[in-house]
Parts: sequence; structure tokens; C-alpha cells
Amino acid sequence: MKFGGTSMAGTERIRRVANIVRKQQARGHEVAVVVSAMAGETDRLVNFCREANALYDPAEYDVVVASGEQVTSGLLALTLQSLGCKARSWLGWQLPIHTIEAHAKARIESIDADELIASMQRGEIAVIPGFQGLSEDNRVTTLGRGGSDTSAVAVAAAVHADRCDIYTDVDGVYTTDPRIVAKAKKQKAVTYEEMLELASVGAKVLQTRSVGLAMKEGVRVQVLSSFVGEDAIPADDLPGTMIVSEEEMNELVEKGEMERQHVTGIAHDKNEAKVILTRVPDKPGAVAHIFEPLAKAAINVDMIIQNVGRDKGETDVTFTVPQADLARAQALLEDKRDEIGFNRIITDSKIAKISVVGVGMKSHAGVAATMFKALADRGINIQAISTSEIKVSVMVDEDETELAVRVLHTAYGLDAKDEAA
Ligand code: ADP
Ligand code: ASP
Ligand code: MG
Repeated sequence: MKFGGTSMAGTERIRRVANIVRKQQARGHEVAVVVSAMAGETDRLVNFCREANALYDPAEYDVVVASGEQVTSGLLALTLQSLGCKARSWLGWQLPIHTIEAHAKARIESIDADELIASMQRGEIAVIPGFQGLSEDNRVTTLGRGGSDTSAVAVAAAVHADRCDIYTDVDGVYTTDPRIVAKAKKQKAVTYEEMLELASVGAKVLQTRSVGLAMKEGVRVQVLSSFVGEDAIPADDLPGTMIVSEEEMNELVEKGEMERQHVTGIAHDKNEAKVILTRVPDKPGAVAHIFEPLAKAAINVDMIIQNVGRDKGETDVTFTVPQADLARAQALLEDKRDEIGFNRIITDSKIAKISVVGVGMKSHAGVAATMFKALADRGINIQAISTSEIKVSVMVDEDETELAVRVLHTAYGLDAKDEAA
């Protein structure tokens, strides 16, 4: 069971969580619980790091930001004890959860789960702070924003759990962020592949890596709400959204429990920034000089456009990087100014990426055309485009994010029918 930040925000909500956990144990389950920091806490800690040192050392950043989860894991263990349950916390370094050294975006390598399993078998509820790990050189690491989902899936795999229930502040995965589109529809099931793509383009309901890991390890994942009353449908009856394989999805479609759609979801991402390098030499090797230093610094580049060359053998190169990496990317590129040979760096954080996702696209043409037309009809300008087999993304002005998402949701026929209460 994993509980996100909103579910853990304050002692009252932690008590509600403790009750959900206690009930699940009372149904005969052995439970491990993974928790996030209280909502807003990680942002607060990240800001402290920025204030202390704008070009902060990621290893020390991890020491700071991992603390939010330490607090909530201890508080949940205490609350469970107050309800008469046996419970204890296991910090990332205590299990340990081994990760690679990439600070602030570490990847889990393995979890030593023997003691954890033994403790669960003794009837103790294991409370594990999400987001945290331990590097090979014995330093605290964190898994990247939203990483508690991945901790939960990794723990589920390590203890061979029947299911990994991700409790959050919405009751499942919707056709788009229900906070933006009131007519978004809750899905009974979503395939791993679609969820992976949706997460990677900004549907933050699950961290991308958690979906990839669940797919690889065959972990059954359900997304459901922790904001429920005493009479809620038990998690075992699957009231949320299940992440399923394509075969399971086909069965659901055959049984008439799911509809096949070309587009299953729309996501947006405001956390990227655009970088333009002007007057880069238009010759072989030029873009390699730009992206090599970024790759070495583990900065992910997403959309890339190399504009048509000008007469003087020069061209502009536009790409996006995570906003959090923008300052470092800029510094790295400035360092290589002579080698790359550009004129100016122009950056813009006021952009958003809007993506439509669906496995149906593999066999259905026209999804991109519908997107471009719907946006054009509303006067929304597209600054860049990228596609994959099951996704089309466009870059737009950040101020137009909500409008673009709503327009596309309607254009693909995803709006829930107006239902009388
Ligand atoms: P937690 O703190 O529980 O990890 P997050 O804030 O990370 O929660 O993720 C839950 C949020 O994801 C929801 O509140 C919702 O606004 C957002 N979200 C974005 N896209 C979707 C979607 N397609 N379906 C459901 N929620 C979504
Ligand atoms: N607390 C971390 C974050 O806000 C991890 C998580 O909540 O999943 O990114
Ligand atoms: Mg989250």
C-alpha cells in the first residue's frame, strides 16, 4: 500500500491512512506501507537547497529532501501503534534499498527484503519511507520527484506482493487530469504501455519509472483514493483503476467492460523549459557537441528541433530540458561555447507540452491531424511537435495549457456525457 503526499498531510489524515491500513491487515493481508512526505514538504525542502546554493551538490540535496519521508514514516508507525497494531519504520538505508549513485534521480537496483518479510510474517506492519535509497558508496539517494510510487512497486516486487495499491487524492486514472477537465472519465483499466507513456509525458498520477518497473516485474498495480469513508468498497474489490497487460485489456474489451479508443489519455507537462542555441555551425558533429555534455550530466533532453540552415552555414537548434536542470544545462553549454560555436542561448520556461496517448494510434491514422486542427481552431500556436508510436506531443505557450487540454479532450470524444446527479 502506498500513500501519497496529500494523503499524509497532517496527523488527522495520517490517522485515516492508518485506519485503511489496519482494515487491510484485518482482512488477513500482510502489509508493507510506503509513504510520501506531507504535501508541499518536498517543494519546501527543494527551495531550501536552492536558497543555500543555486548550483547545489545533488548528494547534499538528497540528504535534505529525503527527510520529508522520514517524518511521515515515523508518524504513521506511531499512529498505527496507537490503534493497537504492531508497526515499525524501515528507512531506505536500513533495509537497504540499493540504488545507483545518480543523486536526485537514482534508480533502484535491488532491495534486501529478508528482514522485512520476516517482520511482516510476525504480523508487524512495515512502514517504508518512499523516495529514499542508498548508493553504493553509502550515501543517501532519492529517486526523482514522485519517486515514492517507484519505491512502492519495488517493495511490492521484493516481497512478492499480490498487489500494489497506490492510494492518492483521486479515485483512479482518468482520461486526463480531472483537476483540469471536469468531464474527464475514470478508467477501469489502463495498459502498462499506455500508462508508461502517459506518465512520461506528465500525467503525474504515477511516476514513469514505477510503471516501467511494474511492467518488468509483473506487479499488479491499482490506483485508488485514500479519501474515502468507512463504507468504501474494499480495495480487494478493485474500486480504482487497474494497470493491466494488453491481453487483460483485450479480455475486458471482449467482455464489454472497456471500450477501445484511439486516444485513451491526454497529459500536460509544465515542468520543461525551452532552450534555443542560435547560429550553430550547420555541419556534421555540431549537435553531438551540444548534447554530449548534457548527457554526461544526466540531463534529459526531450523535444529537439534543428531549424533549416541559413545561408551562412548556420542553424538554430531548439530543445527542451527539465526546468529543474535548466540552470545546470545553461552553465554546461556556456562552458562549451567555443567547441559548439553558437552565438546566443535563449531560454523560455513559460512553455508546456501537451500529449495525446493511445495504443489505438498504432493502427489508426489521423490522430495527429485531429490534434493540429482542434488547436488551430482555437488559435493555439504549436511551437514544436514530437511523436512516438502511441503518442503525439506539441509544445505550446504555458498560458494555453488548460485550454489546449480541454479542447483536445472534447475533440477526441473523451468528455463524459452530462449525467444528471
Ligand atoms: P500523490 O501525492 O498521491 O503521489 P500526485 O499529486 O503525485 O499524488 O498524483 C495525483 C494527481 O495526479 C491528481 O491529483 C491529479 O491532479 C493528477 N493527474 C494528472 N493526470 C491524471 C490522470 N490522467 N488521472 C488521474 N489523475 C491525474
Ligand atoms: N515526496 C517526493 C516528491 O514530492 C516523492 C513522492 O511524493 O513521491 O516528489
Ligand atoms: Mg505522486
